[in-house]
Amino acid sequence: EERERLRQQLMQSDKMAAVGQLAGGIAHEINNPLGVILGFAQIAGRNIKESDALHMPLKSIEREAVRCKKLVSDLLTFSRSYKSAIERISLNTAIDSALVLVKTRARTQNIEIISVFDGNIPEIMANSNQLQQVIINLCNNAIDAIPDGAASRRVTVKTSSFVAAEQSSAEDERALPQQSNFIEIFVSDTGTGMSEEVRKHLFEPFFTTKEVGKGTGLGLSLVYEIVKKHKGTIEVESEKDRGTVFKIKLPIE
Ligand code: ADP
Ligand code: MG
Repeated sequence: EERERLRQQLMQSDKMAAVGQLAGGIAHEINNPLGVILGFAQIAGRNIKESDALHMPLKSIEREAVRCKKLVSDLLTFSRSYKSAIERISLNTAIDSALVLVKTRARTQNIEIISVFDGNIPEIMANSNQLQQVIINLCNNAIDAIPDGAASRRVTVKTSSFVAAEQSSAEDERALPQQSNFIEIFVSDTGTGMSEEVRKHLFEPFFTTKEVGKGTGLGLSLVYEIVKKHKGTIEVESEKDRGTVFKIKLPIE
């Protein structure tokens, strides 16, 4: 059981390293030519009548180029997460500004984004951009998981911190669990939840249940990598038709 888990974890990090290296290089090479294809397809599409036989093919080129752009931009974000600096940051502030983006999208789908911030969180050593990527990815997935007709339409982002009291004696300290100072981030939704099968493959690169063009399957593998780089852990709880909670635990150094 434990051996199997470790084996899976190793396989995961091997895959991640390979994907990360490839992703950056390829995405960079593809980005510019893709921009040219999209640009000209759009210009040509604008100057052609709907009755023209070339209208449909041009629109298809445009649509598919947009789809490729999305994939390339996900790949670029993904590979960028491999470098960049760790600083002292305020987690709540970082999350709050990430939510600005998320809220814009949520509003169009009538979904409420609720944030519940623990005001006593100490500053942590982290990469603020990467943690924002984590929040954006988790929230986007949460939004995707809420079907159009659902009555309950909420995504909640919550933070909390656990800091052990300082005045503990040496004896007490030995009794404390190893990681006594940490913060938690919860992202929960009122969506469809997921099957056990999906839960098993969640963090694998390119694993997606979304239709072609909608999902790249890179979101959660990016999240996983970032959390790991911050020496944290991520857990999922999901209940069919009730929703899903992602829980991230990060150490306070
Ligand atoms: P993508 O969003 O491109 O499909 P992700 O790596 O972000 O890729 O997610 C992988 C899969 O995990 C999704 O396709 C979906 O099936 C499942 N998933 C992720 N988050 C949730 C959630 N909040 N509720 C239900 N399923 C989820
Ligand atoms: Mg996603």
